[in-house]
Amino acid sequence: MRLCRRGTLLAPMPRPRSTDSWAIGAPASLPRNEQRTPTTNSIPPNTPTSRPARRLDCRRVDASTRSLSLAAFADQVAGCTKCALAAGRTQVVFGSGNPDSELMFVGEAPGFHEDKQGVPFVGAAGKLLEQLLAGIGLSRDEVYIANVLKCRPPGNRDPMPEEIQACEGHLWHQIELIEPRVVATLGNFATKLLSGRPTGITRVHGQEQETTLGGRRVLLYPIYHPAAALYTPRMLEVLQSDFARIPELLGREVAPPEPVVLTPAVAEPAVQLGLF
Ligand code: URA
Repeated sequence: MRLCRRGTLLAPMPRPRSTDSWAIGAPASLPRNEQRTPTTNSIPPNTPTSRPARRLDCRRVDASTRSLSLAAFADQVAGCTKCALAAGRTQVVFGSGNPDSELMFVGEAPGFHEDKQGVPFVGAAGKLLEQLLAGIGLSRDEVYIANVLKCRPPGNRDPMPEEIQACEGHLWHQIELIEPRVVATLGNFATKLLSGRPTGITRVHGQEQETTLGGRRVLLYPIYHPAAALYTPRMLEVLQSDFARIPELLGREVAPPEPVVLTPAVAEPAVQLGLF
């Protein structure tokens, strides 16, 4: 499979399965820069719409500009001191892969090996991620991989809310620069952050959602974190079958963004000022 920027994706396009809406719940905190606009439940693929679905081939910049912008942004983030994790890190783990890819993965946070090497997913979970990618004919050089947190939490503990809040702007801007078509979230932290919903990965894995990230319509595709499958064969089967749908999602036609409808303000009844 070739992940091409413009033109046709060389991937099979089986009939899309219907898009489930995720469980309703109070939205998690919205990113301050409002990069994400959750869909009010995506249009089911078979629902007639007056605005025809189309492929999202409207990326705004060419590959070299994208690559340069991302490298400049990585330089900027390398000195980040927005949260306490800066004090304990070896280095910022910004992200790696092809900045021009239409497929982006978002994991949780760097671990020991990632912190040392400055590259996401180089430990055991990363090896499994590479195998899962190989299973759909891709290598890690063909996709872009990043994390919710760019610095390693001590002892690989879970990210804390204030760390996510401090770091999320980096991820939003990465997404904005990369302009992916499909963003696959690996595990709970990335899924909750990018969906803006509290629903856990067990409920939503394998269910794509149209949403707006980085100002563009994308398919958000939650899947289990590879680490969850390292010692659980059943989980590995689920991950493999969720991965198997990625080529279809890359070829999926999505509806263009909803036009913004401005509702005219209801005219206030004229106030009789009682001047006469
Ligand atoms: N390595 C990463 O870079 N991210 C994870 O979420 C796990 C391992």
